[in-house]
Amino acid sequence: MERVVAGNWKMHHGPSATRAFFRDFQPDLGAAPPTLIVFPPALSLAAAVESRGGRPEVALGVQNLHWEPKGAFTGEISASMALEAGARYALVGHSERRHIFGETDEHVARKVRSAALEGLTPVICVGETLDERRAGRVDEVVLRQLHSALEGLSETPGKRFLVAYEPVWAIGTGETATPEDASAAHGTLRRALHAALGAEWAQRVPLLYGGSVKPENARGLLEADDVDGVLVGGASLDPASFAAIAEAAL
Ligand code: PEP
Repeated sequence: MERVVAGNWKMHHGPSATRAFFRDFQPDLGAAPPTLIVFPPALSLAAAVESRGGRPEVALGVQNLHWEPKGAFTGEISASMALEAGARYALVGHSERRHIFGETDEHVARKVRSAALEGLTPVICVGETLDERRAGRVDEVVLRQLHSALEGLSETPGKRFLVAYEPVWAIGTGETATPEDASAAHGTLRRALHAALGAEWAQRVPLLYGGSVKPENARGLLEADDVDGVLVGGASLDPASFAAIAEAAL
């Protein structure tokens, strides 16, 4: 299974900080590195394209997009614009988009559709809040979010995508799910992919864990069953700590 280490910079690192990051990002990954993806702010994408050169190869993505290809949508960017600017991946349904900006499952499905149709690989984010976890609703919530997002892929069968399980209570809080919590949710997601798309495909979709991943806890999480990679927020801003996390995926 493909190993993936992705960094979501959120609203951090303008163009000059982006150049400095790639100058200093020098992980020691040998001949079989994990897939590395960085999601800079859209305004820093061009700087990332210019400065990410050399080894290891780092793919780029956008943190959000609009589902329409163009139009009167002030402040938005489309999948085709992101692709033209050098993005190959799109984060869709990040919990900050859902909870701060009111994105619904239906919006997420439309964004997944647009990303896939235009040629970006969607990274579908799902995860429960603390109240939902306390109410024993983890499976119900992540399965609802997953199935709704998969509807966005109905016109692009065979299109590669990734799923990131990011429990909302663990994002930016310093609280990390245990490897067992991550495995349990990932197992649920894997079984759902199996039921929806078949065994072979279910084994091909990388399942990433996200939520306060740091160099100190990355290895334990990456060794957990059904955890194929990590989506890292805060710790991906620093080149040395993101490099250490990438090395933990070897
Ligand atoms: C994220 O933003 O996707 C994330 C997981 O953030 P953090 O690692 O800072 O919790």
